[in-house]
Amino acid sequence: MIHKQIPRIVIKFGGTSVRYFLREAVGFVKSLSERNLVTVVVSALSEATDTLLSFALTGDAAYLEKFVDIHEKYAEEVGIEKELRELKWVREHRRLYPCRRSYVDHILSIGERVSSRIFANLLESGVAVDAYEIIITDGNFGDAKIVLGETARRLGRLEKIWESGGIPVVTGFTGRYGGYRTTLGRNGSDYTATSLAYLLRARKVLIMGEVEGIYTADPYIVKDARIIPFLSYRRAKIASRLGMRAIHSKALNTIKGEIPIVIGRTKDWRMGTMVDELDMKMPLITHKPLRDGYALSIIGEDVPRMPHRKLARGKDYITYFVERKNLEETMREIHGMMLYD
Ligand code: ASP
Ligand code: MG
Repeated sequence: MIHKQIPRIVIKFGGTSVRYFLREAVGFVKSLSERNLVTVVVSALSEATDTLLSFALTGDAAYLEKFVDIHEKYAEEVGIEKELRELKWVREHRRLYPCRRSYVDHILSIGERVSSRIFANLLESGVAVDAYEIIITDGNFGDAKIVLGETARRLGRLEKIWESGGIPVVTGFTGRYGGYRTTLGRNGSDYTATSLAYLLRARKVLIMGEVEGIYTADPYIVKDARIIPFLSYRRAKIASRLGMRAIHSKALNTIKGEIPIVIGRTKDWRMGTMVDELDMKMPLITHKPLRDGYALSIIGEDVPRMPHRKLARGKDYITYFVERKNLEETMREIHGMMLYD
């Protein structure tokens, strides 16, 4: 049990990282594993889940071809024929599933399973772990909740991998209910990562993706949005509920503020935001699509009053309704007022 002394880290890579920045991701894991017991959690390659979903719903073989194309760069090395056969088999036997969602979840799980094999193969000491073996969930197919107690009992599997000098590469987003595969909701790999971090008493959980961290507003819309280096767990939870996409709200709920979450960019290993106790009180603007417009929320102290229709108000936030056509301009205007006035 020499392992008790070595800090544990869980690191999750999103879909663009595993598709376009795989070498950087693998390099980062190697360097972290020099001093830590690392558990990797992977998303499916970007677009894989959407493609599998279309295949599940239509059965159209063109989506299988697209799935192959997405993995083209790596398919030769790891071989994905096994998964392709499984996809066809599951599609043909869809009537054997207890409900449509459970059939869809089985199909979707294949994206993460291929991706974990690709990652583990490149990592050399990597061992692909199918979450079906360790992550136990409730039976809410398509949006399942992880049963922590049952999952904790199965984590010996990871210990064994470390004992033999390996690095586990776990499929995010999926789990098991009885004899069926479940998924945790779109973007659910964050939730897999924080749940494992919580159960393993990890020192940190790293959520690696396309952007460097959490910004004061969506950096694709507000060009001068700033990185928020320290964000409290409490405010992160509010922001994620109000539409911030950097981290899934289910992921924040499990960890109960006990383990710091670091958000970073895979490409150049840059860590922009730490979600923990400290908060720099920088404003944060989020948006969430509604049927007929957007809910724009301002999280911060002294939130400005705007001439828009108020949808909700809490102790540290206010939510306005804005029309689609005014969203970007309104965001920039509020951002300017909050950051520079
Ligand atoms: N692959 C899943 C999705 O696209 C889960 C994830 O990326 O976190 O939603
Ligand atoms: Mg994500």
